Amino acid sequence: MVQRKLIGPFTQLVTMDKLPLKGPLSDEKLEIITHAGILTEGDRILETGNFNTLAAQAKKEKYSVEELHDEYVALPGFIDPHTHICWAGSRARDYMLRLQGKTYVEIAASGGGIWDTVTKTRQASQDELSRQLAARAERHLNDGVTSIEVKSGYGLTAGDELKMLRAIRDANASSLADLIPTCLAAHMCPKDFKGTPTEYLRMLVSDLLPKIREEKLANRIDIYIDKNAFSPQEARVYLNDARSMGFDVIVHGDQFTTGGSMEAVRAGAVSVDHLEVSGEKEINMLAESKLIPIALPGSSMGLGVAFAPARKLLDAGASLAIGSDWNPGSAPMGDLLVQASVLGIYEKLSMAETLAGISFRAAAALKLYDRGTIKPGNKADVIAFNLNDYREIIYNQGKMKPVKIWKNGKMIK
Ligand SMILES: [Zn+2]
Repeated sequence: MVQRKLIGPFTQLVTMDKLPLKGPLSDEKLEIITHAGILTEGDRILETGNFNTLAAQAKKEKYSVEELHDEYVALPGFIDPHTHICWAGSRARDYMLRLQGKTYVEIAASGGGIWDTVTKTRQASQDELSRQLAARAERHLNDGVTSIEVKSGYGLTAGDELKMLRAIRDANASSLADLIPTCLAAHMCPKDFKGTPTEYLRMLVSDLLPKIREEKLANRIDIYIDKNAFSPQEARVYLNDARSMGFDVIVHGDQFTTGGSMEAVRAGAVSVDHLEVSGEKEINMLAESKLIPIALPGSSMGLGVAFAPARKLLDAGASLAIGSDWNPGSAPMGDLLVQASVLGIYEKLSMAETLAGISFRAAAALKLYDRGTIKPGNKADVIAFNLNDYREIIYNQGKMKPVKIWKNGKMIK
């Protein structure tokens, strides 16, 4: 029989449940259970409610009790719907040059930029990549991020992309966090590919995607649509091909030039990520669509550019998830809670909207429907802060980290 266990009491349990997937959220709508308990069964949540009531039940039925003896605010484990944490090398030199005012083109010409990461990632073994990725996932988990999307995209040959996806699979097997793999072989057309961008994408469809299917390495295919990457026209064929092979599709879009979000909607993508330059037309189109816009404040902070129009997206009726975009180039910080909190103050997001962006709305962007809220049936992924008021979390701008973490019902911190 699967073991039942009562955890608590929590001074406040913020369930993130019973909130709409789209549109603005007021803080008053947050469901907060005070002096709360969470009854788990194996890796699942069985019940939530008043701790004393659940404790009486636990005593009668002889469930074990994991009793807490301080003040704690509990939330669902955070979900990061967008990272690139599988890489080798460092781009500290690039960052120094960026601070000196060098442009993207100048940095790339001096041996930096994404090509530097591609070169080092190609040189690294699958094991090395997996170890470095697992260490980053561990750091994220320790900050309360219990589910983490991870993209390939620094291999840019069929073989090197497979190596990255296998490294992600290996790291997922050894990590306590859940890693959700995405193939981003269409990050850019590599400069050593002998052919046009269209021919490169065609090569991916014929040589890479079937192998990903065969080895079950990923269900998600991402493409970067922008002036330095692929055009909407080039992407359209690739997205159609990927969809017809049964993959979910995702788009990096509207980061420097528009066009990506429109293509994402047309392709029936699950999410479109970045959106820094989305205007009124794009915002209204996204609000009417089913896809989840993902803001990446870490990338804006790393490049020193404006944030995605998060407030406008929500007010127009769109959903909004928030990802760290943790990567060696534009977003080296990799602190989801800090970045979400900073986006919140610049974009005037309610605390509920910010927390939704890194919980159930991020879960929807990954089509993970068993997490992101604390409710019966969901995974028992729970994080607890040593606080008595949930508002302290965003107020401290992400500096305050969870002191206790349960993953699949087991206390791991
Ligand atoms: Zn990205």
